[in-house]
Amino acid sequence: MSRTCRRCLQSYLPSDNTPASCPFHPMTFATRPHPAHHYAFEIDDEYMKTLEGWISACWECCGSEQKDAPGCKASMHVSYDDPLPSDIQ
Ligand SMILES: [Zn+2]
Ligand SMILES: [Zn+2]
Repeated sequence: MSRTCRRCLQSYLPSDNTPASCPFHPMTFATRPHPAHHYAFEIDDEYMKTLEGWISACWECCGSEQKDAPGCKASMHVSYDDPLPSDIQ
């Protein structure tokens, strides 16, 4: 019987579940466009223009700028019956 992964929401067969089955990003997709020494609230439209070329949003774990980029880490699928591994937030 197939199960549903609570992380990627795909159904999978426990017998096919390997440590590479479930790619994911361990950190959040950050949409805070600003250089390291500025806060986001300092940025208005005018200032935004000078920021062209800066990464405007990225996965904090790997720096990938595509929200749907494949996960930079992989693990086994986690069903709703399993406890979440502590390294996955
Ligand atoms: Zn990542
Ligand atoms: Zn999964």
